[in-house]
Amino acid sequence: MNLNTIAEVKRPTSADQITHWRDGYAWLAGGTWLFSEPQVSTDTLIDLERFNWPALEPSPAGLDIAATCRIAELYRFAGPDEWRAAPLLRECCNAFLASFKIWNAATVGGNICMSLPAGPMISLTVALDATYTLWPRNAPPRDVHSVDFVTGNHTNILQPGELLRSIHLPASALSKRFAFRHASLTHLGRSAALMIGTQNAAGDDLLITITAATPRPVQLRFKRTPSSMELRRALDERIPLTDTSTMSTARPPISATSPIISPSRSGPSWRNRERAHETYCHCKCASRLHCRQPHELQRQRQAVFGRAGARTVPADLSARVWRVRGQEGL
Ligand SMILES: Cc1cc2nc3c(=O)[nH]c(=O)nc-3n(C[C@H](O)[C@H](O)[C@H](O)COP(=O)(O)OP(=O)(O)OC[C@H]3O[C@@H](n4cnc5c(N)ncnc54)[C@H](O)[C@@H]3O)c2cc1C
Repeated sequence: MNLNTIAEVKRPTSADQITHWRDGYAWLAGGTWLFSEPQVSTDTLIDLERFNWPALEPSPAGLDIAATCRIAELYRFAGPDEWRAAPLLRECCNAFLASFKIWNAATVGGNICMSLPAGPMISLTVALDATYTLWPRNAPPRDVHSVDFVTGNHTNILQPGELLRSIHLPASALSKRFAFRHASLTHLGRSAALMIGTQNAAGDDLLITITAATPRPVQLRFKRTPSSMELRRALDERIPLTDTSTMSTARPPISATSPIISPSRSGPSWRNRERAHETYCHCKCASRLHCRQPHELQRQRQAVFGRAGARTVPADLSARVWRVRGQEGL
C-alpha cells in the first residue's frame, strides 16, 4: 500500500551514515510488513539494501546469515553433508504464509525483528542455537542468544535504532539430527504450532523448540528422550495454562476425560484450545522423534487424551485443518 506518512526514504551505503536516530525513523528491509499496513508513526524509511551485505557465508564454524538475506536466497542454500540439520532451512522457509512477492522480498532479519509468534526464521534460528549480532546506535556491537531476543508478541529487545546485522548458526547445531512438525488451522495458512527437535549423535541433548503457539519461543532440554509424563510435567512448568481467551494459551488440560474443545467451535477460545492441543501433540511427537504421518499424530493424540478425550475432537480434524509435514533427517 502507499504509505502517505512517509516524507523521506534514506538510502545509506553504510550504517555509520545514520548517526542520529529519532522517533519516526524505521529500517526498511524487504518492506513486506512495512508496506502491508499504514505506518502512522513513521515518516522516514532507511533502506538497508545498499549495505550490500553478503547474504550467506558458510565456514567451518557455521553459517553466517546477513539480516538482509532474502527468504528465497536462504531456501536455495545447500549446506555440506555433515550439516544434517541444513534441510531445516528449507522447512522453515516453507512455513511462511508467503506469496511470490513475500518469498522474494522478505528478509530473514525482517522476520526476526517483526517478532511475531509465527515467525519461522525465529523458530529456525532459536532451534539451531543462533547468536544474533546487533548494532546499536552509537555503541559497540553486541551479541545476543537468539532465544533471548523475542520478548512477546511483536516485541523484542532491540533498542531504538538498533540494527540486527547478522545471525550465526554454529556448526555444532547444524550437525545435529532434527525433527520438524508444523501445523496450521487452515490449508497453507499461518503456523498454529511449529515444533523443532534437535539431538546430537550421542542422543544426550534433546532440545525441543516450541513456537507459533506461544507468544515467544519456548525451549525444553532433556538429557535423554523423556517419557510422556515427564514431557507433560515439563510443559506444565514452562507453558502454564493461562487465560484461554488470549494468545498466550499454549496447553490444554491434561485429564483424559475432560473435554479439550469447548462446546462452541468458533471464536478465539476454541481456536486457542485447538492451537494448544496441536502444540501438545506436536511436543509428544518431537520428543519421540519418530512420528512422521498425520495418522500417527492422531494415534498419539488418542494415547495422550484417551478415547473419551479423543472423542471431543472433530473426527475429520486431521484431514480438514492439519498440515503436518515429516522430514527424513532422522
Ligand atoms: C501476506 C503476508 C503474509 C505474511 N506471513 C507471515 C508469516 O507467515 N509469518 C511471519 O512471521 N510474518 C508474516 N508476514 C509479515 C512479514 O511479511 C514477515 O514477517 C517478513 O519476514 C518481514 O520481513 P521484511 O524483510 O519484509 O521486513 P520489513 O517489512 O522491511 O520490516 C519489518 C520490521 O522489522 C524492522 N526491521 C527489518 N529489518 C531490520 C533489521 N535488520 N534490524 C532492525 N530492524 C529491522 C523494520 O523496521 C520493521 O519494523 C506476512 C505478511 C504478509 C503481507
